[in-house]
Order: sequence, then C-alpha cells, then structure tokens
Amino acid sequence: MRLDCPSPPPYIGRFAPSPTGPLHLGSLYTALASYLDARSRNGWWLLRIDDLDTPRNMPGATERILDCLAAFGLHWDGEADLQSRHGQQYQQAIADLQRRDLLYPCSCSRSLLAEAGPIYPGYCRSQAYRNDQPAALRVKASPGEVEFIDGLQGIIRESIADQHGDFIVLRKDSIVAYQLAVAVDDYRQGITHVVRGSDLLDSTPKQIYLQQLLGYPTPEYLHLPIIVDRNGQKLSKQTRAEAVTATSANQTLFMLLSLLGQNPPPTLKRAEIPTILDWAVARWSPERLRGIRSISIDTPPSNQT
Ligand SMILES: [Zn+2]
Repeated sequence: MRLDCPSPPPYIGRFAPSPTGPLHLGSLYTALASYLDARSRNGWWLLRIDDLDTPRNMPGATERILDCLAAFGLHWDGEADLQSRHGQQYQQAIADLQRRDLLYPCSCSRSLLAEAGPIYPGYCRSQAYRNDQPAALRVKASPGEVEFIDGLQGIIRESIADQHGDFIVLRKDSIVAYQLAVAVDDYRQGITHVVRGSDLLDSTPKQIYLQQLLGYPTPEYLHLPIIVDRNGQKLSKQTRAEAVTATSANQTLFMLLSLLGQNPPPTLKRAEIPTILDWAVARWSPERLRGIRSISIDTPPSNQT
C-alpha cells in the first residue's frame, strides 16, 4: 500500500469485511466503532477486503461495500487492500512454519472430523501422511496459555491445545485459512489496534498464537458487543440481515451511535453526516460497552430509518 508518510502514526486500525454480500447493520456498526476509535486517536483507518474465501465471494460485493462506507462518510486511508493480492506472503508464513516442523498435513474426512467434535484430537499428528489424498495443513498447538487484555472484555486466557486443538492454517481446497491470513495481514499492514465484534473473540487466541510463532507483534484488541435480533441471533448475512442503504444515512448513524453507548443528543439526528461523525470522534468512549457481549435490537434494520 502505503500512505506517503515518513513515519506511521502510533495507531493503525482497520476494518476487514468479507465481500460475501453488502454491509448490513451489524457490519456497519463494527466499521463505525473501529473508525471512531482510530480517528479519535489520530490514527490511520485502513480498509482490507477479506476475499480469500473465493467460493463465498459475491460478485460486486466489494464495490458495494466501498460505496456504502463512503456514503456513510467512513473514509479510509490509502487504497482498499485486497487479501487476494498477497498470496505470496501467506505462502511464506506457511513455509516458515513448515520449515520449523510446526505444521502437519491432515487428510481426515469431514465425517471423521464431525465425529471427533469441535476440538481436533490430532489423529494425523503422528501418522505418516498419505500423499495420495488431499490434505489440509494444521499447526501444532503447544501446551501453555495465550493471554491478552481486551479493551472491553478484560483478561482472556486460553489454552490453545485444550480449547482449540491443532487448527487449520491451509484448507484442503488450498485456500489459506482465516486465522493465518489475518495474522499475516495485521502484521504486513502494521496494525496496532483491532476493533471488531465479540463473535471473533474465539479467533483471537489462535491469531495471537500464530503471531507468536511467526515473531509478529500482537496488536491491542477491543471486542465490541455484537448486535442481536429479537431471537438473540447475531445480525449477519446468515440470518439475512438486510443490507444498509444510504437512505437516511444520518439517522442510521445516529442509531448506531446509540447502540455503541455514545448517547448522541436528539438534535444530532437530523444533522449532516460530517457533523455527526465530528461529534462522535470528539467524544468517542466505548466505556459503556465494557464487559457486554451482545446488544439487542428490537426492530429489523429495514425499519430503523
Ligand atoms: Zn487429520
């Protein structure tokens, strides 16, 4: 990428949506929080498109995401960064781990994995690999704990071996797995602060584990409560949360600021977008979200405007 700046600022944040569909209210909420956190600390806010999972990508989604963020006044620094352009860096990281005997191929079938449960019991760790079958690559989980202090969720301490097991870094279909891609991306982009939904809290120890194995620094993390619908389901593409539209963008921003615990004054509801964002940057404090994992929204996003 890079911004023509001789020395990067002490804060570099990012928003990293997958182009599997347009932004919905839940993803815009995360975008807004990470934007406000970066801007309130005079940091950069980078946009990364997590487009490695090619079978799930939706044609045109990247353009729609970019247009949507721009319509809401969430302007990012530099060019949007596409994961798919960095294949070589992921391969280098995998080769590095492989050279140090930290990975092994796993050719277990889907049914065998389903039987084994959520934590892979390491069947292929000791077996000689049969190279006539397609295989994923797993990283060996070493004993010991990964610990970090989340900006909102407090101390998180997990055993990779006991709570996650040997997890996949390269999928059977040769697609770089999410955890490895994110660890490499955050490093190559110099990310210092990650603001994202608490649904990803389970991924963070794995990403930190990979950072440690690869010798990368660990950014600071802040996991926001996720927005759930009246049934307690996370707003997501899977629950068919509707795409946000730029119609009444100021009212949508106002509602998102309320959900983020910022208590915007009613007069701000009809203000122009830059005015709303300036107000929010100047007063940003996620403190009221401390320790909260989910926030309920009573009406579907389409009725919010
Ligand atoms: Zn296996």
